[in-house]
Amino acid sequence: MISLPVSSVDGIPIIVDIVPKGNTKVRPAYAMVPKDVAVHNTGNSAATADALMHGKYLRNNVAAGSSAPYASWHYTVDDKRIVQHIPLNESAWHTGDGSGATSGNRTAIGVEIAENSDGDYAKAERNAVILVAFLIKTFDMGINRVRPHQFYSGKYCPHIILSRDGNLEKFKANVVAQNKGGSVITEPAPAPQPVPSELPAPKSGEGIVDYLNRVGIDSSFANRQVLAKQYGVTGYSGTAAQNSTLLTKIYEGSKSSGNPAPKSGEGVVAYHTRLGIDSSYSNREKLAAKYGISGYRGTAAQNEQLIQAVYKGKSVSSGSGGSSSSGIKQVGTVQIVNLNSFTYVYAKPDKSSKRVGEAKKGAKFPIAGSLSGWYEVIHNGKRAYIDAKYCKKV
Ligand SMILES: [Zn+2]
Repeated sequence: MISLPVSSVDGIPIIVDIVPKGNTKVRPAYAMVPKDVAVHNTGNSAATADALMHGKYLRNNVAAGSSAPYASWHYTVDDKRIVQHIPLNESAWHTGDGSGATSGNRTAIGVEIAENSDGDYAKAERNAVILVAFLIKTFDMGINRVRPHQFYSGKYCPHIILSRDGNLEKFKANVVAQNKGGSVITEPAPAPQPVPSELPAPKSGEGIVDYLNRVGIDSSFANRQVLAKQYGVTGYSGTAAQNSTLLTKIYEGSKSSGNPAPKSGEGVVAYHTRLGIDSSYSNREKLAAKYGISGYRGTAAQNEQLIQAVYKGKSVSSGSGGSSSSGIKQVGTVQIVNLNSFTYVYAKPDKSSKRVGEAKKGAKFPIAGSLSGWYEVIHNGKRAYIDAKYCKKV
């Protein structure tokens, strides 16, 4: 097994950032069957010395060639994430006891707990408990295979835990409790959720997590991975650049339906047929009502509006200067009946109010409600009124 078969444990994202081969002082590449888990503190309390920075450190050391120190380990855990640097079936240099076949370096999975001063150390250690619990479950190790670095070489490491507790026993008890409660939850990738259309624009400097939380989309790493796949951000690991690209794509994508653009001169029937949408008149009537194109009769202007609405996945303004997407909730549809030609659409439920349109016999209107003697219809994106005696709910 090169990596754990999950993308997160208990909601903590696992970022797989394996360093390249080529420098055996970082990646010795001895085959390894893990028997132990060795627990460390990084010993680096600098701000920003988090798990990601330690990944960069190891990569830089690979590039540094023979001047690199003999130093590497499998995971760094901070308060936000778990980063893997070395495959689980290869050895690393972290226990200071040489390269013998039974050394910690050749048998133990190295877990470094970050202690960066800008992080929450208690959370980082808690995340490490969860990772170690999952590792010993995965590799079927007993709890006594979890050892402090000190066990192998005598080094005072993990120094924060040793100075606080004197030994690793409390850490191990937490690992046991974690597994006993069955509370190590692995999270399979969630099913894609539809992204709502017409999301608000991201604020200046707003990160993807804040943005997704604000618009009500699951911002977990696992869901961002799903979104990344959906929006074509490959190899998503949560880097700043990927997050920024993903955020832009989600926002831009919400402004369209994802349907291909209509071709120049393409009619509504041809366009709908190409998209695999039922292009019958009755279905176009339904779509027109959905997109707030009132009184659909299949005129050229209405068909053009319908093409644009289907393309953009939302209501569009009519050619006659009507307002765009109404935002008015449709509660039903009425059809114009009981007359020979047409009646008027009024601005208010009052025949002396402004006539804002015509409602021809047979035409359908989306309605937002009804009141004594009138239906409140959605006409060109606005509330308007038609005498109820000419309307039949359909
Ligand atoms: Zn150590």
